[in-house]
Amino acid sequence: MLQVLNPATEELVATVPAATPAAVDAAVARATAAQRGWAAAAPADRARLLRRFAAVVDDHVEELARLEVTEAGHTIGNARWEAGNVRDLLDFAAGGVERLNGRQIPVAGGLDITILEPLGVVGVIAPWNFPMPIAAWATAPALAAGNAVLLKPAETTPLTALRLAELALEAGLPEGLFQVLPGTGPVAGNALVEHPGIAKIVFTGSTRVGKSIMAKCADQVKRVTLELGGKSPNIVFADADLEAAAAAAPMSFLDNSGQDCCARTRILVQRSAYDRFLELLTPAIEEIVVGDPSDERTQMGPLISRAQLDRVRSYVTDDLEGIRGKAPEGPGFWFPPTVLTGVPENAPCAVEEIFGPVAVVLPFEDEADAIRLANATEYGLSGSLWTRDVGRALRASRAVRAGNLSVNSHSSVRYWTPFGGYQQSGLGRELGPDALTAFTETKNVFISTEGPAL
Ligand code: NAD
Repeated sequence: MLQVLNPATEELVATVPAATPAAVDAAVARATAAQRGWAAAAPADRARLLRRFAAVVDDHVEELARLEVTEAGHTIGNARWEAGNVRDLLDFAAGGVERLNGRQIPVAGGLDITILEPLGVVGVIAPWNFPMPIAAWATAPALAAGNAVLLKPAETTPLTALRLAELALEAGLPEGLFQVLPGTGPVAGNALVEHPGIAKIVFTGSTRVGKSIMAKCADQVKRVTLELGGKSPNIVFADADLEAAAAAAPMSFLDNSGQDCCARTRILVQRSAYDRFLELLTPAIEEIVVGDPSDERTQMGPLISRAQLDRVRSYVTDDLEGIRGKAPEGPGFWFPPTVLTGVPENAPCAVEEIFGPVAVVLPFEDEADAIRLANATEYGLSGSLWTRDVGRALRASRAVRAGNLSVNSHSSVRYWTPFGGYQQSGLGRELGPDALTAFTETKNVFISTEGPAL
């Protein structure tokens, strides 16, 4: 049994049965049967059903958002955005169904065409930090491309996923096509990874688990997309609008209590602007409203669990200097907004993903030094650059090794633009114009017009 706690109160919200390997096996059989009919259906019919699913989700945005607040501690404003993101993704993916085309390639002696075929049954393993959107990033385009989906939500956050599966049936999606299998990673997650009936795994979670999943997928040369950790830089050049950069910095790493793979947790500030930037940043951190996530005014809620709270505490020891905001005492898994200063650039808190409301500020000398520091990590998911010099913005955007950069902004995720990591932040891309293609196999067919030929 999985126990779902409200992280803001520590109250038990629900107990959910955990899927066994036998349950995964039965789910794969049902999904395989459903996928055949789904792939054979007219594209317009698949698109219509996905749009209907989007409409049903739209009717339930408030309910889904409240559920997310309860099981994940997300602020109500964020949770509404997350439910809306699921709806928008389903609409976006539905729009791609009839545009998923192969090509005709010029050849001598015949005609050459490519056919994009669905993969079959896709396993989606999701984390707890954004349970709904991350599940939908893979599920919506996979379904649109003609696949079936088995979704394993994280142990702590199965409720929104289970509700989405009910809404899919309400919208008229075929039975078995989209199933949710709550369970533990080592049992239900692993059963999906090892199952020969699963054609692809889309995993979002820690780099450690992602590596082990990639190694297991290699046994069957199973397709795999990995969205893993990050330690993203927020580079502030002295020529930037410092007021704007300091005002935007707090929520770039405090959103979702810092449990965000794109969190800008390494604030790199040019030395000549360092003191002024800290002067501006200090009140901005101290004023962040931390508390009841269902209150519309709250900017930051609790961490997901006691384990996550202990992890964050282990990085922020009392001897470290910095700016500390306010947080409730408890019950609930609370940690105050924290910016650490004066730490060495290779300190654990400066290079490891903490996944909590903690950032470090490090000074740099010039553009080359900024790039060196930005790239001094095994990750490469996101990053921001603040400057008024367009040439510098372009040079630095090219030089930082990360999949998602923003200039004078901290925006990372738009469902119509590609998202994914360099280096140990991941493998492959989700979302964007090629979102559906990632769930297809390309078949090339040559048709001779000149008789048998080699
Ligand atoms: P996690 O790796 O512990 O778990 C993620 C999922 O994998 C869960 O559903 C879990 O049950 C499952 N799992 C665990 N062990 C497994 C195994 N052996 N086999 C199969 N499945 C297994 O990660 P988490 O703590 O839930 O999530 C936080 C991490 O996710 C952070 O590192 C964060 O950066 C990352 N993340 C990345 C992105 C991205 O898009 N790059 C987005 C969000 C979160």
